[in-house]
Amino acid sequence: MKKLMTTSAGNPIGDNQNSLSAGSRGPLLMQDYQLIEKLAHQNRERIPERVVHAKGSGAFGTLKITEDISKYTKADVLQIGKKTPLLIRISTVAGEKGAADAERDVRGFAIKFYTQEGNWDLVGNNTPVFFIKDPLKFPDFIHTQKRHPRTNMRSATAAWDFWSLSPESLHQVTILMSDRGIPKTLRNMNGYGSHTYSLLNKEGERFWVKFHFKTKQGIKTLTNKEAEEIIGKDRESSQKDLYESIENGDFPKWNFQIQIMTQEEAENSSFNPFDLTKVWPHKDYPMIDVGEIELNKNPENYFAQVEQAAFSPSNIVPGISWSPDKMLQARVFSYADAHRYRVGTHYEMLPVNRPLTEVNTYHADGPMNFSEPRSSDAYYEPNSFNGAVEDKEYLEPKFPVTGDGDRYSHLEDDNDHYSQVTELFNLMNDNQKQQLFNNIAESMNGVPEEIINRQLALFEKVDSSYAAGVRKALK
Ligand code: NDP
Repeated sequence: MKKLMTTSAGNPIGDNQNSLSAGSRGPLLMQDYQLIEKLAHQNRERIPERVVHAKGSGAFGTLKITEDISKYTKADVLQIGKKTPLLIRISTVAGEKGAADAERDVRGFAIKFYTQEGNWDLVGNNTPVFFIKDPLKFPDFIHTQKRHPRTNMRSATAAWDFWSLSPESLHQVTILMSDRGIPKTLRNMNGYGSHTYSLLNKEGERFWVKFHFKTKQGIKTLTNKEAEEIIGKDRESSQKDLYESIENGDFPKWNFQIQIMTQEEAENSSFNPFDLTKVWPHKDYPMIDVGEIELNKNPENYFAQVEQAAFSPSNIVPGISWSPDKMLQARVFSYADAHRYRVGTHYEMLPVNRPLTEVNTYHADGPMNFSEPRSSDAYYEPNSFNGAVEDKEYLEPKFPVTGDGDRYSHLEDDNDHYSQVTELFNLMNDNQKQQLFNNIAESMNGVPEEIINRQLALFEKVDSSYAAGVRKALK
């Protein structure tokens, strides 16, 4: 049987090819509601693109837990044998929605796990660290990555000016400018939760945790020249690779691992374990196997399932929680707020964002509230009408907070922005070091000498051969 085409109110459509006109040569009649509805809808086909991470690719998949980590966490999603459906969105940061994929940039690595205890979102990057550690600097930093307000072009001067004045960025800048700064495909890179989170076990003990996703496809990267050639022919190289590999049954996989730090170890750590510009060295905090993620299904509709997907570190489940990391604390507010603006107040009701579990809140009304009306006298809390109630079982154990309220300088309090970068630099072979020097020199094209010199002084603090290598490449 043929499906009947209708207006959005369900009224049958008799002709979708010819508008209603006075005579065959027009003009058109105002009462052609079908035409008006069609044009009006087209005008509203877009939602604002994300301010950051506008260009992304998404896929559905599964998290499988293969190891017993119940001594660290009671989270149902992390118990051995558990399989949980997930949505991933991997993105570049700075470019707009139409930007080319093979650009030198950090990649966002956002996962929504549809667990039996509500959604758990882990919204990280393909790097274990970040450029800054105080969220007060975030909007300024992003302005340097976006277009200059006068020229409407990206500004290398702004980027290097900010980085050279923010020594805490050196670790992430070095990763970005290294061979890993342009992953060959989204399948050939690692993902990191980046922040320190906490795990809570049944006894109410808290452990600090870092989440890692190690690619099973191997790390593969592109040089600037290789990326230029790809972009010249194909701006959607990552999207194409991910989509086609999943369509062809070649499902990408990542090993899911964690690092654990006890509260006592954190108190005695030589570095701040909640500083997003630092990693936890593997030899001190060894990797622990947990399971695997696999991507095995492409979205049916990119707009509905990827563009409208809304990931937020505010979504956690019992057994997993946050840490004092200042960047994480700000993201807990700012991501959900971004979605309320970009998608709408009720963004979590959309099918792709909706949890598998029942949602019972006392939030009311608001634009585009499309929940089924539930008739009840329990529309406030506390009430005497059998409404949803809290359960103290889900209270998190206390967490210690100390110190006087102040604006503590993140540069003075914890000012070793160099030794972990030296460790990274020492991991690189000669070819990788040369790529690093060349990539930095290329990206400094047109940057004033004063800014370059300030940045070279930072490289000098990492290793004098780092500064010398960049200096030589600049010539
Ligand atoms: P390890 O030698 O135990 O680990 C080095 C890590 O560096 C590996 O995970 C490796 O990832 C990764 N790596 C290698 N080259 C690059 C690159 N160009 N960009 C980003 N990551 C790279 O040493 P440590 O744990 O003591 O850490 C030393 C340095 O390695 C750190 O200062 C940090 O810069 C970097 N690193 C550390 C991580 C950590 O969690 N400890 C995580 C990622 C990087 P892979 O296994 O995929 O090759």
